[in-house]
Amino acid sequence: MGEALVIDNEGFRIPRRFVARDAVEHELERLDQAIVAAGDEIQANREAVARELGEQYAAVFSAHLQMLRDPALRAELDSMIRERHYSPEYAVSRALRRYAKVFQTIESSYLAERANDIFDIEKRLLRNLLGRNREELSQVVSPVVVLAHTLTPSETANLNRAFVRGFATETGGPSSHTAIVAEGLEIPAVVGTGGFLTDVSGGDLVIIDGDNGLVILQPDEETIDHYRHEAAENLSRAAKLESLRDLPAVTADGTPIELLANIEFPGEVQHCVDRGSDGIGLYRTEFLYLGSICEPDEEVHYRSYAEVMSKMKGRPVVIRTCDLGADKISRRMEGTPNPTLGLRSIRLSLKNLPLFRTQLRAVLRSSVLGDLRLMFPLVATLLELRQAKMVLADVMDDLEEEGVAFNRDLPIGMMVEVPAAVLMIDHFVDEVDFISIGTNDLTQYTLAADRSNKDVAGLYSSADPAVLRLIRMAIEAADRKQVPVNACGQMSGNTLYTMLLLGLGLRRLSITPSAIPEIKRVCRSVTLSHCRQVAERVLTMENSRDIKSYLREELKKILPEMIA
Ligand code: PEP
Ligand code: MG
Repeated sequence: MGEALVIDNEGFRIPRRFVARDAVEHELERLDQAIVAAGDEIQANREAVARELGEQYAAVFSAHLQMLRDPALRAELDSMIRERHYSPEYAVSRALRRYAKVFQTIESSYLAERANDIFDIEKRLLRNLLGRNREELSQVVSPVVVLAHTLTPSETANLNRAFVRGFATETGGPSSHTAIVAEGLEIPAVVGTGGFLTDVSGGDLVIIDGDNGLVILQPDEETIDHYRHEAAENLSRAAKLESLRDLPAVTADGTPIELLANIEFPGEVQHCVDRGSDGIGLYRTEFLYLGSICEPDEEVHYRSYAEVMSKMKGRPVVIRTCDLGADKISRRMEGTPNPTLGLRSIRLSLKNLPLFRTQLRAVLRSSVLGDLRLMFPLVATLLELRQAKMVLADVMDDLEEEGVAFNRDLPIGMMVEVPAAVLMIDHFVDEVDFISIGTNDLTQYTLAADRSNKDVAGLYSSADPAVLRLIRMAIEAADRKQVPVNACGQMSGNTLYTMLLLGLGLRRLSITPSAIPEIKRVCRSVTLSHCRQVAERVLTMENSRDIKSYLREELKKILPEMIA
């Protein structure tokens, strides 16, 4: 719960709507300064373009200047600020957007295009008024709830946890990396709500209910009380679960289940230790790239890995090589057609060997610091796996020649998250030491439904029978060859699926640290024979809706309080 900080779809902060009566003169001064500064910028652009390309190309800037300095616009803004006490930012947005709309509705493509000129002026003025844009989201200095059209995973990762109490985005899906990072950082969030930013202004009170996917704007007293009560309940539930921390995750009929954690940043390791995780089942190292402006060098990699290894004190740590691409791209790379089907993940590493080798060197050097295991993401073909292993062997030879210590026998595994890999799984299990089923991508690629696209969120379901069949195939093939198998997608951290996954044969789950206590509770409350029955029944069902409601009923029988 907190004050809204609103970021529109072009990354601009939508300001507070009102200013105090006695601040009006000061605000008008700010407006005038912004108009002068914006005018200077446009003038400078005009001159540069005229010099480089000729006067006729500079004409557009002259038109911008004319619009910006139009006395009618200044008078309109003046009255909005003086009479309605709008903030200059809000007045600029309101007035210019109204003009732009008029142009957009004119049936002339030339004039409709002019709307973009007006947006341009609006942005320029806002930039001057605010003196900052979305990059400074990380520098928020008072408690806020961020409401944005979209947030990339790296922007999410850079949110200042001390002040950002929650966030909501219009775009995205529950398995998008933005959502995953929010979970890792334990920031309450709702993603993919659809349009709502026009209904809210900076400074409005907002409640984010991540459990139920609700964003409540300007709540009334009763709602506020209800949520205060809920928040207190949540805390007491978490405190109760804490008592499970040092107890093993053993089923009621005595089978131990390994509960590992997924992390994105070394800083999360403490959460894993606090929640009693048995190790790290997935370290998403691509976040090293997403957070930094320049490419991390070997030492940056090494320091991160060494920190994780030392804090995990001998417990297993699975380091996954970079899974860059798809929705884990920087804004710079936006615009690639079909990024999810493009040069992503292991494909990108194999195309960019210096990047890959740098990472492998750091991983190998860290392999003497504890129980380190290496995993390749998004493997689709045997050839890719073999190529990745060849590069690794080559890097090992280099290190040996240089006399650098590393563990030549470190276990090598792969993510199973492309349907092609499942279909060829009997071959893959002969060539790896372990596999980890990535249900997030497996779901997206099986159903051809983008995990970050809210428009297909109804189709995207890891409980879809087609996905479940693939999961079962992978587990059976691994069991036949006695290759350890883990599952590390969002599904593993959802209590609804724990019985099903155990019933399908999994004995190892890797999940977001905050979900460990609840999943442990389910593991300790169920018998494997019941889980097997549940899985058998589920595999006869035809759609994910029926499967989910059946699983809800089964969980309710055992732990009714877990089902709201
Ligand atoms: C997955 O795809 O299930 C997975 C764990 O990897 P990521 O979410 O990082 O793509
Ligand atoms: Mg994946």
